Amino acid sequence: MKNKAWSSANLEFVQWSNYLLVLNILRNQGPISRAEISKTTGLSPTTVSYAVNSLLENQLAKEIGVGVSSGGKRPILLEFNPKGSYILTLVLNEFKLLWAVSDLQGELELLEEIPLQGRKGEEALDFLVRTIERALAQAAAANIHPASIGIGISGIVNFKKGEVLYSAGLQWNNLELRAMLEQQFGQEIFVVNDMNAAAYAEKVFQPDLKVANLLYIMVGQKIGAGMIIDHRIFEGCNGSAVEFGHTSVNLHGPRCNCGNYGCLTEYVSEDALLRRIAAAIRQGAPTALEEEALTVPAVARALRSGDPLAVQTVRESVFALSVGITNLVNLFNPELIVIAGDGMVQCDEYFQELKTNIFNMALKTAARDLAISRHRVPRAFLKGVAALAIEAYFEMPRVMTA
Ligand SMILES: [Zn+2]
Repeated sequence: MKNKAWSSANLEFVQWSNYLLVLNILRNQGPISRAEISKTTGLSPTTVSYAVNSLLENQLAKEIGVGVSSGGKRPILLEFNPKGSYILTLVLNEFKLLWAVSDLQGELELLEEIPLQGRKGEEALDFLVRTIERALAQAAAANIHPASIGIGISGIVNFKKGEVLYSAGLQWNNLELRAMLEQQFGQEIFVVNDMNAAAYAEKVFQPDLKVANLLYIMVGQKIGAGMIIDHRIFEGCNGSAVEFGHTSVNLHGPRCNCGNYGCLTEYVSEDALLRRIAAAIRQGAPTALEEEALTVPAVARALRSGDPLAVQTVRESVFALSVGITNLVNLFNPELIVIAGDGMVQCDEYFQELKTNIFNMALKTAARDLAISRHRVPRAFLKGVAALAIEAYFEMPRVMTA
């Protein structure tokens, strides 16, 4: 009896492997005929036919007409259908919750952005759960039934364990989010750091660039970063890697609330930039800027018009960021650095000076193959989360667990 159960599980495993193998061939090499799939994979025509029928039934494949005959009947060509399945993708930070459904190529549909309105801790978690319920219902109404759910979180996340170790903005500590949500929804769940997801999107959705080592740096109210090393997200031993904002650029700088001295975030984040300008105004620095009307767009305008305080403070900030990034270039030798953010980095003066500094300061060999660009993938957070779930969807089973 035991043997019989094992052999039935074994048969299922083999069929499942064949199904996935044919699906991957369709996705990567289609349009393709059944005979060509058989030739490419070494699977028998009967086995290919069985797998293809299952894929047609599940709408992951479609027949798209006839190909060229190699003698005999002209073969029917098959194509992968990316809309045969979907991923529910969400991104949560202290300000907002974004969600969409993504097809198997990363095309987003039903996109929604909801402000978090100060929800923290338990309340933020409850809001996430209720939004997933609502999103699944809305998707079902459009006849979309996501195969899995991916969630990008602003905070320190252990991807392998699906745990949020720490999120300052959401006030979460050691939250076993994946286990909790898998129990609640009975679906496969992926939890990833939002910056790592965006870094992954910049790698995956730029088909013209085959980038293996990439740094993604977000300059906004705070500093965020994600890193791809050798094609994979790099998260260190527990998910805490690349806390770029808390690397020091000044041995004699002020003590940061993290315990370190002269942390990058205190010089580069837009919050810090505005604080420094406000302090200088109070000390009587010559400027057309007014403390009461101090915003990032106002500073950007002042920078363009050559306002001395704006020029000096932004230059210091760019220099600090250049030092921080140069350290990463010399350590990791990436081929692409993506600078993201809607504020200061959109100023050409800021971006060009940053690039010039880095190329002047980095080791020549470390920067020899380096490109620095602004972010190029729209909705990178949602798409990166989806990309990780999509990758898992197509992953071939490696071990027999039955
Ligand atoms: Zn710090």
